Amino acid sequence: MKVEMIFVGTELLLGNTVNSNAAYLSEKCAALGLSCYFQTVVGDNEERLSEVVRTAMGRSDIILICGGLGPTQDDLTKETVAKVCGLELIENKEELEYIKDRMSKLTKKITENNWKQAMVPEGAITVHNPNGTAPGIIIEKDDKRIILMPGPPHEMESMFEDSIYPYLDSLTPATLVSRMIKICGVGESKAETMMLDLIDNQTNPTIATYAKDGEVHVRVSAMADSEKEAVKLIKPVVKELKSRFGAYIYSTQDDVTLEQVIVDLLRENELTLVTAESCTGGMVASRIVSVPGASEMFKEGFITYSNKAKRKYLGVKKGTLLKYGAVSEQTAREMAIGGCDTTKSDVCVAVTGLAGPDGGTDEIPVGRVYIGVCVCGSVLVRGFDFPGNRERVRMSAASKALALLRECLLDYFSQMTFGKDKRKKR
Ligand code: ATP
Repeated sequence: MKVEMIFVGTELLLGNTVNSNAAYLSEKCAALGLSCYFQTVVGDNEERLSEVVRTAMGRSDIILICGGLGPTQDDLTKETVAKVCGLELIENKEELEYIKDRMSKLTKKITENNWKQAMVPEGAITVHNPNGTAPGIIIEKDDKRIILMPGPPHEMESMFEDSIYPYLDSLTPATLVSRMIKICGVGESKAETMMLDLIDNQTNPTIATYAKDGEVHVRVSAMADSEKEAVKLIKPVVKELKSRFGAYIYSTQDDVTLEQVIVDLLRENELTLVTAESCTGGMVASRIVSVPGASEMFKEGFITYSNKAKRKYLGVKKGTLLKYGAVSEQTAREMAIGGCDTTKSDVCVAVTGLAGPDGGTDEIPVGRVYIGVCVCGSVLVRGFDFPGNRERVRMSAASKALALLRECLLDYFSQMTFGKDKRKKR
């Protein structure tokens, strides 16, 4: 089935609001196995909105429309779509009561235009919106489905999860099953090269890859008459990917992040972590802290931006800074060791680099970053040259630091497994 999306709002056209609903819905529809060939952004204008709705109805089976369901004069999506479909708007008693109740709880005065939100096209399915006053609407007209949802992302997303996703799922007879493979430590182009033959020959299952925050995510999806059959189709491809990427795969679950995996690894092995950051300014620590329960293993985070701070808090030697500079393998090494020593922690990840845009030299260009990881006394330092502007360099450095931290932990644990336990736990 073909799905098409229309996003209504002049603020989207002007760039005041990023169209994040588009990214969200596109990902969800892809996961449902729906093909999306067109997306349109249109302002709050009846004539132009009518035109795009008619065009969409002429070429797609399902039309998702977001925004313009509010109470104000410029919110005209429902009225316009009803007109295009030749439907009257009638009052929905339950929605009316709900609006009354919600407004009185919020001790807000009900204005005349609030009642407008209780009007729905005749014969349409009303989708309750517990997070706002604008209900969602599903119009089933001939073989088309037109679905209206509120614009605010938190309202739209919870409505989609609770009601629209299951509705769309029920429209497609075939079952789509997908599995996510999350890879870190391999660049996007290298990862793609490593599975080019699989991608080239794909039909069912399909393999979709995309780069996200310095990682590569691969979604393998199969369509079949039953879930069992779809799983059967996916299995050999996932197995093949696992054998090609090995330990670079950190998870096969959608909602598991790299930082979550690291926190779990450290917690399970009762190791404590400390971060020592320069150019990333706390980004690594922030990602660790985003994981619930990180307090069990994360002791503290240093942002040692100046040379003085690197010496004072991490014990980096003056001579090292003078001889090799702050952005050097030697400094990263001493930061990592110093982080463990001064805090009596088991593990430290240290980042020092030049994010730019100024200050680059032939020897140390902008984008050069050294990452050091100390795990129970064993230290590994690697240098990287990250492309892009200041933000991209910092983001890439933080992601790579986490990837390298995981790699060092796995390496350390595998040595333990093979009886070479050099563990000097604090
Ligand atoms: P409301 O009842 O709040 O008026 P609505 O359905 O009328 O909801 P809009 O008025 O179109 O929605 O948008 C409300 C706000 O929601 C916008 O100011 C914007 O912040 C956000 N929003 C709307 N559309 C999008 C979108 N496509 N992506 C991200 N945010 C959006």
